[in-house]
Amino acid sequence: NRIITSGLKMEDMDIETGLRPKSLKDYMGQEKVKGQLDIFIQAAKERQEQLDHVLLYGPPGLGKTTLSSIIANEMGVDIKITSGPAIERAGDLAAVLTNLSENDVLFIDEIHRINRNIEEILYPAMEDFCIDIMIGKGPSAKSIRLDLPKFTLIGATTRAGMLTSPLRDRFGVICKLDLYSDEELVHIIKRSAGILGVDIDSKGALEIGKRSRGTPRIANRLLKRVRDFAQVKKKGVIDIDTANAALELFEIDRMGLDEVDKTIIMSIIHKFSGGPVGLDTIAAAVNEDRNTIEDVIEPYLIQQGFLCRGPRGRSVTKLAYEHFDIPI
Ligand code: ADP
Repeated sequence: NRIITSGLKMEDMDIETGLRPKSLKDYMGQEKVKGQLDIFIQAAKERQEQLDHVLLYGPPGLGKTTLSSIIANEMGVDIKITSGPAIERAGDLAAVLTNLSENDVLFIDEIHRINRNIEEILYPAMEDFCIDIMIGKGPSAKSIRLDLPKFTLIGATTRAGMLTSPLRDRFGVICKLDLYSDEELVHIIKRSAGILGVDIDSKGALEIGKRSRGTPRIANRLLKRVRDFAQVKKKGVIDIDTANAALELFEIDRMGLDEVDKTIIMSIIHKFSGGPVGLDTIAAAVNEDRNTIEDVIEPYLIQQGFLCRGPRGRSVTKLAYEHFDIPI
């Protein structure tokens, strides 16, 4: 039920598709990644070739799926979307690959979750644009080689380190998406407000941006929630007072932290003398999944300087003690 989770929630469905930027121009922030991709896209188009395989990594909600659709748009090709967990058998992947057309983009979300045996099919597909299929069983089984159209694989993952090295090495372009700055989120919120027809001023947008944990998906979700609050309580306009009142009601503090963050920080302070303490120990102490802490909760706490990560584990910083008014 966490409002500020960066994972996709059912309530995001009705706005996400409409708010997704369609061109690099509308895709805010990530300047370095955009600059690189712009050059690679132009070069591939001039040569009339498919784009090199691209790996996008970064926490959920930062725009990996959006960027993949934009790449396909800019290349003027079709995109087929699937995900690691959806590919259960080798045949599933073979079917997806053989249905591609020349230069198409194949987007595989959560690519680190593909089963290792199935992953091996991707190696020749990415390198030589072919797959080997086994026909029959037992001694009469034989392998036939099928040629594939030249395509671009775009893989998305929350952490590049979770990929096996043979797979990682086959991507020509590897891009890390960073958490967005407050200013970039303000641009995203204003653009979304324009599309949704919401009346919002700059200070109202900044207040929502500051509490969105550097994540566009959360910014859009909070905008939608604050819009409802403004409609019922404040005649529809979102200014700084409306944004503050709404976000307080949703129990998101001025730095974008909620009960879950507070529990983790308090637990490190009170149970482990402020750290350093290992991730598994924290996960057990707060009854939270280790991967959720590492992929979703911790990046923002580290970016904001509440937590630091060292060889012996996580430690709470002076800023965290000050934020929660606890003497060191
Ligand atoms: P991911 O695939 O990394 O989990 P998505 O691409 O699904 O994230 O992005 C979530 C939502 O955030 C999208 O619906 C889109 O509206 C918005 N979004 C993401 N990145 C940007 C951006 N750079 N500019 C504007 N909106 C963005």
